[in-house]
Amino acid sequence: MNTILTICPWCGCGCSLLLREREGKIVETLPSSDSPVNQGRLCVKGWNCYEYVSSPLRLVKPLMRERSRGYRKSAGSLDDFREVSWRKALKFIASKFKDIREKKGSVALGLLSSAKCTNEENYLMMKLARAVLQTNNIDHCARLCHSSTVVGLARAFGSGAMTNSIEEIEKAEVILVTGSNTTEQHPEIGGRIIRRVLKGAKLILVDPRNIHLAKFATLHLRPRPGTDVAWINGLIHVILKEGLADLDFIDKYTENFLSMKEIVKKYTPKFVEEITGIPAKKLMETARIYGSSRQAMIFYAMGITQHVTGTDNVLSLANLSMVTGNVGRPSTGVNPLRGQNNVQGACDMGALPDFLTGYQKVEDRDSRKKFEQCWDVKLPTDVGLTETEMFIEGNPIQALYIMGENPLLSEPNIGRVEKFMESLEFLVVQDIFFTETARWADVILPGSSFAEKDGTFTSTERRIQRVRKVVEPVGESQSDWKIICQLAKELGYPMEYSHPAQIMEEIASLTPIYGGVNYSRLDKIEGLQWPCPEDSHPGTPYLHKGGFKRGKGLFTPVEYKPAQETTDEEYPFLLTTGRIYQHWHTGTMSRLTFTLQREVPQAFVEMNPRDGQFLGIRNRQLIKVVSRRGEIIAKAFLTEKVGEKTIFIPFHFSEAAANRLTLDSLDPQAKIPEYKVCAVKIELWGGNN
Ligand code: SF4
Repeated sequence: MNTILTICPWCGCGCSLLLREREGKIVETLPSSDSPVNQGRLCVKGWNCYEYVSSPLRLVKPLMRERSRGYRKSAGSLDDFREVSWRKALKFIASKFKDIREKKGSVALGLLSSAKCTNEENYLMMKLARAVLQTNNIDHCARLCHSSTVVGLARAFGSGAMTNSIEEIEKAEVILVTGSNTTEQHPEIGGRIIRRVLKGAKLILVDPRNIHLAKFATLHLRPRPGTDVAWINGLIHVILKEGLADLDFIDKYTENFLSMKEIVKKYTPKFVEEITGIPAKKLMETARIYGSSRQAMIFYAMGITQHVTGTDNVLSLANLSMVTGNVGRPSTGVNPLRGQNNVQGACDMGALPDFLTGYQKVEDRDSRKKFEQCWDVKLPTDVGLTETEMFIEGNPIQALYIMGENPLLSEPNIGRVEKFMESLEFLVVQDIFFTETARWADVILPGSSFAEKDGTFTSTERRIQRVRKVVEPVGESQSDWKIICQLAKELGYPMEYSHPAQIMEEIASLTPIYGGVNYSRLDKIEGLQWPCPEDSHPGTPYLHKGGFKRGKGLFTPVEYKPAQETTDEEYPFLLTTGRIYQHWHTGTMSRLTFTLQREVPQAFVEMNPRDGQFLGIRNRQLIKVVSRRGEIIAKAFLTEKVGEKTIFIPFHFSEAAANRLTLDSLDPQAKIPEYKVCAVKIELWGGNN
């Protein structure tokens, strides 16, 4: 039996685990006790991370749509595709891309990279887009979860990543968690927070739902969804009024304080109570707890970012940390919890329309020049389209190449995306399963799972760690990096790498924050946290020590703006969406993991029991949820977790896709959609079932 150390493929915590292989099959998972992240622990997803690898539903050969069966105008079934050779599939894709580029220009091509794939694969996808296809139309699912973090924190601090480290929770005095159901979505971090609280730290939870962390919270504030700027401004108002601000820090390390101070003047606790529903007394108590500590960490996730005001929310949290000097030291900071295993890495690798690797701007001539010299090609200069813009009707996109993403379930207002798909000329999907998106493809390429390839993932705390091959890819499937290289060759730009280690050498040579990263270092230690600019650099556990990356930390005055869609007589409930402990994102992998699917086999709608009683709905009764964009049917789950007139639906389930209901309005700065606030109505379905 072989035992191989690798990284968990689900959430951004980046837990290390051992996979045990016998006769070409993975038979067991064990947690790694050497890991500074998980220290011998795993959550239910980690323990069962290998089950889907050997699923009989894996894609094992390239597939092409039978033209006679409704070519590209609707979603197909597997019967609508036929198996073809790799050579035929890649030649066909290359000829279509060339043809469309010739007729419509590079602007007609779009690529979606993958937060599930390795850094090396994301780098090559980005290189394929820019160097080979000559387009900056490349993006990935960070657009849907944390693009507002990247924009907001980069503007305030100069770096859009988590400022501190998971281990530093051990010394925090105060932990403010908002918009993150941490024990379910980042279980390792959630567990650490609880253990620290049990040893005496104070936990402030700001979340409309009564989530598990509420049991451990000193204070639980339950704002109305979409009112985050108001309560954060309110906290700053009280902190300033009660002399709790760190004026030395503000003076020495920040700028634009006075304009922010002016804005928060009117956010008195009473005014904030009117907007948010948070009792004024509770807000003041919270401000005193957070404002009195100099070891206070903020953790947040998509409850903060997935709003039309997502960037404003992030900027407000940055203001809060700076006003108390809680940044630039251990056990402080603003800590976005990144969703997927390698969403941080996909951003770092420049799978974004405006950045090359390491957040070097595509519009910056010197940055481009460095890449042009290395790649021996001229690069496009204009910022490309974001993922959300690529699915808007009327955009120039005619061909899409989607690697390891499932926008037909993850994009808001799925009905609109389906309309766009009907008009798209050519779609290539590279994945390990026949996803909702693959159904619309012209060509499907079978990629490989995390256990079938070498590479690196970068976790939410900027920790770059080695992913190791345990078993051979199933059937004729291939590592995604090899597929990209072969396609580049067909397109007339050979990319030759013998191993992902070689790709990392190229990344390090072009990316200052990864400059000291190489496989021989990573093979000896439990990862390196960027920035790691040179070989002798030990990595950086926390950012902004002795000054901000951008020079001075920038305060931004932010006004509260109401949500785009509010409830009314016709649509009286607020819908908020999210994830649950047992499943992951669009369920592509978790719903094909027997143990996880057995635990939660179908979609549900969390509803307050008093609303249930009022509408005559019993627990587990089928209901119809209707928004202005679509409708779904799922079982009601009556629970005090949600407040009255609010419902929660997890977005993992294709048969009751929450995103058929959600709103496709975008944050104007980060282009992230509003997933957390939409108005719906509830109807009984099928009588007393
Ligand atoms: Fe995997 Fe996240 Fe669970 Fe760790 S906490 S085992 S990384 S899913």
